[in-house]
Amino acid sequence: MGACNLVKRKKVTDELKPYGAKQKTFDQRYLEMALIWARNSYCVRRQVGALIVKGKMIISDGYNGTPAGFENICEDENNITKPYVLHAEANAITKVAKSHNSSENSTLYVTTSPCMECSKLIIQSGIKRVVYCNRYPKTDGLDLLRRAGIELVFLDLENDIYEIQ
Ligand SMILES: [Zn+2]
Repeated sequence: MGACNLVKRKKVTDELKPYGAKQKTFDQRYLEMALIWARNSYCVRRQVGALIVKGKMIISDGYNGTPAGFENICEDENNITKPYVLHAEANAITKVAKSHNSSENSTLYVTTSPCMECSKLIIQSGIKRVVYCNRYPKTDGLDLLRRAGIELVFLDLENDIYEIQ
């Protein structure tokens, strides 16, 4: 019984951190990809990119923007972000929902720390790790993720900071 539980737990860990000693390096590379992906965003105020990785496979991607079929303009005439703009995390998660994949036990790489609304989606979609680089001033989203037992990794690529929170 005990041994079976151990094996099961190890399997989940392997899926979550499949790169062993090179996990940090791969976390950095995926975050760099998310930073490049953020450049796809049409948003002027802030460009955010996200990737969802399960095992060793990228299963989704997203950047902040309006829903499919809408104009590619995120801000209104007063430079206020339109209420229907989806955050990068929400776009990545809903892209999985449209696919045959599952985000259960996956890692989310995102270039700005998640807000409260996205954090709720992250928890419900079964994502178990969140790796991010820029800290959004409001931390209520991160606090919620922590409460849900999701591993948070703050990664500062320029200063080589890798902080598991
Ligand atoms: Zn958000």
